[in-house]
Amino acid sequence: MKIWKTPKEKTTRVIDCGTLTDIAWLGSVSARKLIESKDITVAQLQEAIDEINEYYVPVVAGAKTRCIDGRPDPKFDESHLGAQVPGGAPGAALAYRLGVDKDDLTRGTFLDDAEHMIGSFLRLGFAPGGHRDAEHANGKVGCGAIDGMDAILAAMTDPRLVDDHKRVVKQLLAGEFDRDTYLRVMGAAVVVNGRSSDYFRNREAIIDELEKREPNSVATLTGTHKECIVSVNMVSGTTLASKRFSEDFKGMQAFGYDLWRSKQMAAKLLPRPDQAVDRQRFVMARVMYTVATLMVLTDGTQRLLVRMPA
Ligand SMILES: [Zn+2]
Repeated sequence: MKIWKTPKEKTTRVIDCGTLTDIAWLGSVSARKLIESKDITVAQLQEAIDEINEYYVPVVAGAKTRCIDGRPDPKFDESHLGAQVPGGAPGAALAYRLGVDKDDLTRGTFLDDAEHMIGSFLRLGFAPGGHRDAEHANGKVGCGAIDGMDAILAAMTDPRLVDDHKRVVKQLLAGEFDRDTYLRVMGAAVVVNGRSSDYFRNREAIIDELEKREPNSVATLTGTHKECIVSVNMVSGTTLASKRFSEDFKGMQAFGYDLWRSKQMAAKLLPRPDQAVDRQRFVMARVMYTVATLMVLTDGTQRLLVRMPA
């Protein structure tokens, strides 16, 4: 285990948790295939793991929220990076619905929920963000975390995957994992999954809506997925410079999830002292959604890294 010093003399460490899983997840993004096809070598992967901490930079206040997607946006200004969470701002809406919302779960739509969430982001001074990709077409957004939302919810509630899902969520939340909260969010996910086609109807419109509310908030990512690493970051105020990382490691990419940002978002959305339980539920739902997103996008052969204060 290596310990690095960041420029601010703050000590952080990156913990290598091995591959994401030992069973086959549902997605096609595969570190194993990239290595088998000699696109990426094992030595390159190890070097990237050893050095990834050098690619964490301070988040710039007001910079737009980014997705966990490791693909580059050629127009991205890497001196002005926002935190990474799955599905950007719209992704937070589903976590709120599953974890916190006291409305009847048999009503409501994702589009409504996401519009409200974008409004909350703007009121709270967070720049919402979302993305397309260069190939998006046929009503698809180009963001796996939004296009695949129905599949993600189905994966989260799939009895064959639930044990593995819980294992990874526990690994990320460690001492903050609460079984009752996990099961409560899972219960909400089962109900919403049961009316998935109603709930998610017209969800692709959310990126147009985001563009309308906040011009320039939508990025366009390019290229193919080559994520060999999933890096979960617990160090507040920092994020992965994913374009520079990918350029330095010959096109290898990393999914980056700034878990600290989900906690910060919970504190902003639910600020009162008597909302502690709802804050915990929001964070749980966000982490559960992130893991389920990875289950749908990848085959689970990526290396899981956790970056934390030493
Ligand atoms: Zn995305």
